[in-house]
Amino acid sequence: MGKVLVLNASYEPLNITSWRRAVVLLIKGKAEQLENNERFIYTDFPLPSVIRLRHYVRVPYKEIPLTRRNILERDRHTCQYCRYKGEQLTLDHVIPRSRGGGETWENLVTACVRCNVKKGNRTPKEAHMNLRHPPRRPYSSLQFELVKHTRGNLNQEWRKYIIGI
Ligand SMILES: [Zn+2]
Repeated sequence: MGKVLVLNASYEPLNITSWRRAVVLLIKGKAEQLENNERFIYTDFPLPSVIRLRHYVRVPYKEIPLTRRNILERDRHTCQYCRYKGEQLTLDHVIPRSRGGGETWENLVTACVRCNVKKGNRTPKEAHMNLRHPPRRPYSSLQFELVKHTRGNLNQEWRKYIIGI
């Protein structure tokens, strides 16, 4: 069963929850259903896909840890130089470590083995290898999760509530 996008009372995405938790919020009257995916849990109770809380909640900013897995996720498991998508991806330091490049969101990108070896100890400019996107820190861990859950044909009905994906 699918995941449910929870919007704040202001219609901004707030989090992603399980369908069970969403149903509890609906039954308790704490949220309203905005979208469903046309499957039914009970007669007259469609499985929610997007719900909105009736009362506004404040949320603290949550930092996303800089990990190999999260960088691959940010780059959608695609080599940022040649667009290769698949197994055996590596992390490339855009500015090589030996030349002062750091371990940061802005200096680490996903690269296939071929591109990583080809680039070697050079900057993208020196190697004449252009990056698809300038690497950056994801906006928030929610934004990160939203990208993950709306890949391909997933959760189409969420998209109109999400800015920047
Ligand atoms: Zn590549």
